[in-house]
Amino acid sequence: MTFMPSFTTEEELRAHQLQGLQWTLGHAYDHAEYFRRSFDAAGVKPEDVRTLDDLRRLPLLTADALKDGYPFPLLSVPMAEVVRIHASSGTTGKRKVLSYTQKDIDDWADMFARCYEMAGLTREDRVQIAVGYGVWTAGVGFQLGCERFGALAIPIGPGNIDLQCRFLQDFQSTVLCCTASMGLLMAEQIRARGLRDKINLRKIIYGSERSSDAMRARISALLGAGELYDIPGMTELYGPGTGLECRMHDGIHYWADYYLVEIIDPVTLEPVAEGEMGEMVVTTLRKEAVPLVRYRTRDLTRLIPGRCACGSILPRHDRLLGRSDDMIIFRAVNIYPGQIDEILSGLENVGSEYQIHLTRDEAGLDHLTIKIEREEGVRPDADQSIAVAVREAVKNQVMVSAAVEVVDYGSLPRSERKSKRVFDHRFE
Ligand code: ZN
Repeated sequence: MTFMPSFTTEEELRAHQLQGLQWTLGHAYDHAEYFRRSFDAAGVKPEDVRTLDDLRRLPLLTADALKDGYPFPLLSVPMAEVVRIHASSGTTGKRKVLSYTQKDIDDWADMFARCYEMAGLTREDRVQIAVGYGVWTAGVGFQLGCERFGALAIPIGPGNIDLQCRFLQDFQSTVLCCTASMGLLMAEQIRARGLRDKINLRKIIYGSERSSDAMRARISALLGAGELYDIPGMTELYGPGTGLECRMHDGIHYWADYYLVEIIDPVTLEPVAEGEMGEMVVTTLRKEAVPLVRYRTRDLTRLIPGRCACGSILPRHDRLLGRSDDMIIFRAVNIYPGQIDEILSGLENVGSEYQIHLTRDEAGLDHLTIKIEREEGVRPDADQSIAVAVREAVKNQVMVSAAVEVVDYGSLPRSERKSKRVFDHRFE
């Protein structure tokens, strides 16, 4: 049994996408007032969209439309067909609530099962699901996909490191699903407790935050032979499980038979050149309860041109390199935190944790300080050369001058959830 698409050519995929797009536009226009109004305002009727490129004629959809429509925004089916809701875990303002039909849930399960297949799992695998269960999509998505795939699900939830370690030993879990921060914490604990030879952990599927190459390398080093798979996902687009890295670990395959990806410049809103970084915009092809048409995800990434060496027909995007609204404007230069991640991960003796601090002096001049941890086992007398290397790399690649402060390994806070990395003190 496979959860992969049956297409073998790009032409077949595109034909399937066009059919899905035309269905989505007609469905959204006929059943959701918001879409009808916004398409009418743009002067485009669903039947005007005859090619995939015609999609660009339609207006962009932002998170505001989801928040404004609270509690059941953009609902495009009768309430009786809605079998579940999920909501974003956002703490400020109104939550984004997404409705699902049974078909939406089934599609999500199939997509997520495909993730486990792409990560090379079999039905013999035991999957320790250490992400949150609740109204948000994380735990329930990993669980649903695991059961659809046919592996064993161990729904432990996040935190409780003692219990996590106990389960890894007693149940011989082969796969751990968690955030990158939690993955790092677990890897450190597994080593500190001398559990490496007592457990059977082979793969970590991690996601739900911008994860750095350095953090990833650190987890790999601590766990030895383990393989890591970055999983993207957002509540608006079903939840986690809408794509995964393959065994080549060269970008994230996304499920292009379920949704389209465009990359736009977050300022001009125009498409970027092929392979350039920009904001990801998605359009669903099968989603019933809440279809998305050109939804601005605020996630920054780039499409990777060409077919992957693994042979899959499914296209790829790069890791998520931050959020367009996390973009720092420093002395008129746009900086994405993901760029700093990339730079630090390419340098020696630098640990995986870092912070970016922005301050403004009395003369009104802005200053940027990068706090980084020295890598474990490296002596403090290397600090000077580490600082110089970081300063030069940032100067060369981001074109800004930064102060660099090297701190002890383990001294920056670690979190089981998302770690805060950018601290803007300029307006305090
Ligand atoms: Zn691949």
